[in-house]
Amino acid sequence: MKINKVAVIGAGTMGTGIAYVCAVKGYNVSIRDIKEDLVKQGMGKIREMIATGVNRGKLTPKEAEETMKRIRSTTDVTEAVGDADLVVEAIFEDMALKKKVFKELDESSPPHTILASNTSVLSVTEMGSATQRPDKVVGVHFFNPPYTMKLVEIISGKQTSDETMKIANDFAVSLDKETVQVKDTPGFIVNRILGAAMGEAFYLLEEGIASARDIDKACVLGLNWPVGPITLADFVGLDVAYHSGKSISETLGEDYLRKRLKPSKLLEEKVKAGHLGIKTRKGFYEY
Ligand code: NAD
Repeated sequence: MKINKVAVIGAGTMGTGIAYVCAVKGYNVSIRDIKEDLVKQGMGKIREMIATGVNRGKLTPKEAEETMKRIRSTTDVTEAVGDADLVVEAIFEDMALKKKVFKELDESSPPHTILASNTSVLSVTEMGSATQRPDKVVGVHFFNPPYTMKLVEIISGKQTSDETMKIANDFAVSLDKETVQVKDTPGFIVNRILGAAMGEAFYLLEEGIASARDIDKACVLGLNWPVGPITLADFVGLDVAYHSGKSISETLGEDYLRKRLKPSKLLEEKVKAGHLGIKTRKGFYEY
């Protein structure tokens, strides 16, 4: 399926960034928020991104003008999605609200339209259940800021079709992104791993085992991370880190979490088989 028109729902941090990336790559875009002032604010942010693109030599003034012309804004959901081939939802991280919006999107968009969510941790399957087209509901998880961050996680809900996964993947690739495919699980790949790492960093700090600066320094110099977990949490927003950690841990459940620090069976089997990584030329990869 050829995607000509993309609708973005939510003109906040991620919605504006995603709308910008899509328009730069030639898609016609509509962006929707609930109030006129929020829409205006969002369009202001997009104008700033375009100006920055020009200042950094990424866009010519002509391309900037064409990019801007490709973006329409509205508060009306039908106007936003009525002719869309793909919708990217980027509203607040709240399942009840997301389900309400997915029902609305299902009712207002043409039958062929793919409905994608930019959720960080929530279930794509559950969002799909609010629609009559769960096979066309998929996770398309961009990272912040969407114009700089190279990765997009493509998430399959329980009922997402292979065709929808392919369309979503091709769409992300057309935006010059790298993709990974992942089954629906709280936090997917990146936030599940990040949640575990940040969680441990917070416990080390809370238990007085090391200072925030030393925890960060240890991860930067010992693990070659570009930034330590505590600094990263400050950048992401501690509210976001808290709610995402809470949502992932509550959904996965206590028993599951208790097991997490024990080495997994898979790891144990590799060790028993003598597949120890680079030193035996075979670990999870072959060397
Ligand atoms: P945000 O708070 O900046 O923006 C959300 C926007 O959605 C607001 O402008 C709000 O008015 C609007 N909105 C709420 N209900 C709406 C509705 N019914 N219709 C249209 N618009 C509506 O949030 P954000 O940081 O852009 O996050 C959006 C989504 O992206 C969340 O699911 C979040 O988990 C995910 N995400 C965020 C980041 C990040 O770093 N901020 C990174 C990756 C994914």
